[in-house]
Amino acid sequence: MNRINITGIIQKYASKKFIWLLLIFILLIISSELVDAQESSLSKADVYVDNVPISTEYVLKDGYFLVPALFFKEMGSYVDWNEEYDSIEFHLNNISFAHPTGSSVIDINTNNKWEREELSTPSIHVDGQTFVPLNDITKHLGLEVTYNEYLKKTFVKNPNVRNVRRIGSGDGTKNYIALTFDDGPDPLYTPQILDILKDKGVPATFFAIGEQVKKHPEIMQRIVKEGHAIGNHSFTHPEFPKIQSNEVRDEISNTQEVLSKTIGRKPDLFRPPYGALTRADEEFLHQVGFQTIMWSVDTLDWTGLSGDKIFQIVVNQIEPGGIVLQHNIDWNPDNLNGTVEALPRIIEELQHQGYTFVTVQTLLD
Ligand SMILES: [Zn+2]
Repeated sequence: MNRINITGIIQKYASKKFIWLLLIFILLIISSELVDAQESSLSKADVYVDNVPISTEYVLKDGYFLVPALFFKEMGSYVDWNEEYDSIEFHLNNISFAHPTGSSVIDINTNNKWEREELSTPSIHVDGQTFVPLNDITKHLGLEVTYNEYLKKTFVKNPNVRNVRRIGSGDGTKNYIALTFDDGPDPLYTPQILDILKDKGVPATFFAIGEQVKKHPEIMQRIVKEGHAIGNHSFTHPEFPKIQSNEVRDEISNTQEVLSKTIGRKPDLFRPPYGALTRADEEFLHQVGFQTIMWSVDTLDWTGLSGDKIFQIVVNQIEPGGIVLQHNIDWNPDNLNGTVEALPRIIEELQHQGYTFVTVQTLLD
């Protein structure tokens, strides 16, 4: 009886111990996998490019800090995919190299000779993006990269940096201001806005989307015929930091082409969709002779604000030399009714305050 009991207890104890060990073992496996998943999952951090914090997604892999290849546009490098060779091409000043995706090498082109160099870790694909090691690529682009242990921040310096200006306002000593309307031409809102401007005898500047110009050439022609200025606002309205350098070029040149066909001229003003632009995009715009125009008063009219609210924003924020951002496209039904409603009141009030409405070109002359 006793013996049986003891054996039973031992068996019970042994099996319990075994289960515990098994559980601990399973937990260990799960937790180690969690750590692994954390290591290669996406996080966000700021990298300081010439002391400007720029937010980027990153992946930590084997202790290396990897960022999306397109992030190097923020440092001024052109970044393009070469589909034929399944590689990413980087180009900054006189430095060019290609990285075959997924590999741990780059092929550097010096005087038409190719030399291969090793990276500290291969690139990886996460969420449809290619992540490359920040330190290696930055150094190969000829830029300085340092990690500040104390601040836990990464700093990149571009010694050849040239400050490309983004223009947010004009001469503050004259009482000139410019109204700007983005995203058109549009059959619903553009004619209503043009009617008001005509009635008040006020010029404005329209930053046109190439696709819209193609769809509504007659409205584009009316804009120009009535004495308004125009600017390029890309062809399909993408976020420039998220597209390759050759796509940026196409967005801009396709819009120039359709404008040239439609109205017989090409503008030299550009406004980036969402106001988002990398240093490489700025550099390209500068090289092809554009001025990049931002704004000093954002009416936020596209959010569907009332005419009263838009009127208040403009009147409260306007200063001499100001550039007012508004829109003229029916992306959401009725969302720009406030824009149309506010416009005659804005013009009357600001003229009453002594302001003169001019095009962006005149404002900058
Ligand atoms: Zn826009």
